[in-house]
Amino acid sequence: MRKEGALKATFQQVQQPVCCYGCLAVLNAIQQNGLIDDYLQAKQLNESTSFE
Ligand SMILES: [Zn+2]
Repeated sequence: MRKEGALKATFQQVQQPVCCYGCLAVLNAIQQNGLIDDYLQAKQLNESTSFE
């Protein structure tokens, strides 16, 4: 069973809901490595990708 809203990542000072610990880990790694700009650019190129 899926627990909705159970996981949240703080991304750019904003709480973002994430679907699983995998996504949470990815967002944390992006922030720790200073790759936010690269990540957001890649995300814009692939609009089907979302946090959820
Ligand atoms: Zn996920």
